Amino acid sequence: MVVVVVISDSVDNTSVGGITICDGVVSVGTEHADNTPAARTVPARMPQTRRDRCPGCPYSCTVSTPKIVLFYVFTPLADPEAIRLWQQSVCEQHGLRGRIIVSPHGINSTVGGDITQVKKYVKATRSYPAFKNADIKWSDGSGDDFPRLSVRVRPEIVTFGVPGEVAVDSRGVVGGGVHLSPQDVHALVADRGDEVVFFDGRNRIEAEVGHFDGAVITDATSTRDFVPLLDSGRYDDLKDRPVVTYCTGGVRCEVLTSLMRARGFREVYQLDGGIVRYGEEFGDRGLWQGSLYVFDERMTVDFSDDAPVVGACVRCGTATNAVANFPDALGRELAVLCPSCQSEVAGDVGPTGEAEKPAVGERHR
Ligand SMILES: [Zn+2]
Repeated sequence: MVVVVVISDSVDNTSVGGITICDGVVSVGTEHADNTPAARTVPARMPQTRRDRCPGCPYSCTVSTPKIVLFYVFTPLADPEAIRLWQQSVCEQHGLRGRIIVSPHGINSTVGGDITQVKKYVKATRSYPAFKNADIKWSDGSGDDFPRLSVRVRPEIVTFGVPGEVAVDSRGVVGGGVHLSPQDVHALVADRGDEVVFFDGRNRIEAEVGHFDGAVITDATSTRDFVPLLDSGRYDDLKDRPVVTYCTGGVRCEVLTSLMRARGFREVYQLDGGIVRYGEEFGDRGLWQGSLYVFDERMTVDFSDDAPVVGACVRCGTATNAVANFPDALGRELAVLCPSCQSEVAGDVGPTGEAEKPAVGERHR
């Protein structure tokens, strides 16, 4: 076992100082274009460490100061391939790993590594005028949260499957919903009451373990499902109501709200900064209920010890926020599955003769 000491530095006043000692690496949920919840396996992970020696210390140092940086910018990029090459080069130069999607609509980046190097990456990225005002989010974690560096050009930053329908100008997505801060959302609800409807812009499995009070939760299994769902007419009764969309960090709602407005939803808002920022502001003292699904091995995180358990095990019905691969044996899908059932499933022998092992992410609470 390797013990990693993760030291949280205060960067841009957005992070809280502190020291976490853990068996493994503290990481962060990311929300990437093609990061649809699907069966996941967790790679063997070695802590990323700075090997330079401490002053006066004869040993190779294993104290790391890793950080992850996340941001997206919707802006027209005339030459996405040139941006890709540049971003790849900067990341390689600074030893960062992570995932970057570049499209004609902008960039979505989640990279991690040593904090000094990550800062250099941010500085370099901001030197490009279109990215100068990027809303940079910092989070504890390291490049080890990613198996490698992946920098790709895609038709869309977020894969709704309608690249030709999304228009972007220097101010962002054209025709998107009005951004509301967490406080603004509370003000809207105070003003309009039950007329306001929350619309979960994530996939169903994410919403099953946590969502806003009374939110509409679709059957989406990937972001590509949203356009057919909106076109089905199933949600037409919301078209005259104030709709507040939300997702993990906000990037999906940038596009989703424009697609909704184009389909006749008249009053569409989006939660600025997503659930992550809402949780920072209100924790479990507001309108959010349950756990936040995240795209790393933790599977879910809670904003406080008071987080209610809103999920139910698909196998036995017990209240749980645990998510695992089920059914397994190559037919892997993510499902809400309680720790007890995860253990039982792990002990079963699947139809292929292979043991059905649940994914990591098992949590006891
Ligand atoms: Zn169960």
